[in-house]
Amino acid sequence: MTLTGTENTAGASVLFREFDVVYFDLDGVLYRGKQSVPGAGETVSELVAQNCGVAYVTNNASRTSDEVAAHLEALGIPAKPAEVITSAEVAVEILRKHVQPGAKVFVVGGEGVAQALSEADFSPSRDPRDCVAVVQGFGPEVSWQELAQASYLIQGGAIWIATNLDSTFPTGAGIAPGNGSLVGAVRNAVGRSPDGVGGKPDLAMMHKVMAVAPGRKPLLVGDRFDTDIAAGVAAGIPTMLVLSGVSTESDVWRSQIRADFICESVKGLVREYARPIEYLDHQYFDCGDARAIYFEGNSVVRAEGGTRLERLRAADSLKWSLVNKVGVEPFTSGQILLNLGD
Ligand SMILES: [Mg+2]
Repeated sequence: MTLTGTENTAGASVLFREFDVVYFDLDGVLYRGKQSVPGAGETVSELVAQNCGVAYVTNNASRTSDEVAAHLEALGIPAKPAEVITSAEVAVEILRKHVQPGAKVFVVGGEGVAQALSEADFSPSRDPRDCVAVVQGFGPEVSWQELAQASYLIQGGAIWIATNLDSTFPTGAGIAPGNGSLVGAVRNAVGRSPDGVGGKPDLAMMHKVMAVAPGRKPLLVGDRFDTDIAAGVAAGIPTMLVLSGVSTESDVWRSQIRADFICESVKGLVREYARPIEYLDHQYFDCGDARAIYFEGNSVVRAEGGTRLERLRAADSLKWSLVNKVGVEPFTSGQILLNLGD
């Protein structure tokens, strides 16, 4: 039997039941490097078993949709290649607006970029001669030579599409430079920005995933404000930030855009979600057993009680209440400190 939201009368409901399709970012959300985020397989399997749609949107262009789906399946996460949207595929769709099919395109990055070009009837090349466009994506093998050849082509008038502009991404060993950092290297050489960008937060990627896995009540789950949460905000889709990847508690405090939900990891989807409740017109917020209070004299928001996550949710809601109602800007001014306790 499939439970629906209306049959759950126990008060707070399991979070995912509010949605009919969930779009997952991958790096930092379902895996870090080759390792699964704990509970990712069980969580996505539970959603699928309860008839909640799932799809995957990754700015990482180094691998093909088939390779990504196989990796997810190996980690116990149900995934079909058609449910995986990579930024390489979106970048190639943008390229079609600039260059005719059959054109020779210089590939910077992994096989994901080359395959997406081939499938769209372009001629991907690792040799810059006669190339009229450059598609630049991440690949662990990308070399200075390739960045230099790309720069020479762009200076000669070639169209330049970047798969994504993530400045960093998480690996099993830590935070590593992402494609945005390598695009920045080329930008420094050529003195201009790419002609198009495929990945989040660009709306092209969101439009594609909404077409592949449509729903009336979608949710986007990601670990970065500047790509994932920004993409959800731009597309008008509710967002859930997870703390299992790049973003930290202090990023939540500093962010100028708001995630609708904050969880430790994707496991938060299959749990009841304690919602912050406002008291006394923006003076304090409760979340579960936690309470966040603004001490104006000390310019500090202090949160106490409950779990650390409940304290963070209460403090985040208080921050946005202060921003929206009082007009203070705790993130830009740095004037208001956050104290979450131990
Ligand atoms: Mg990510």
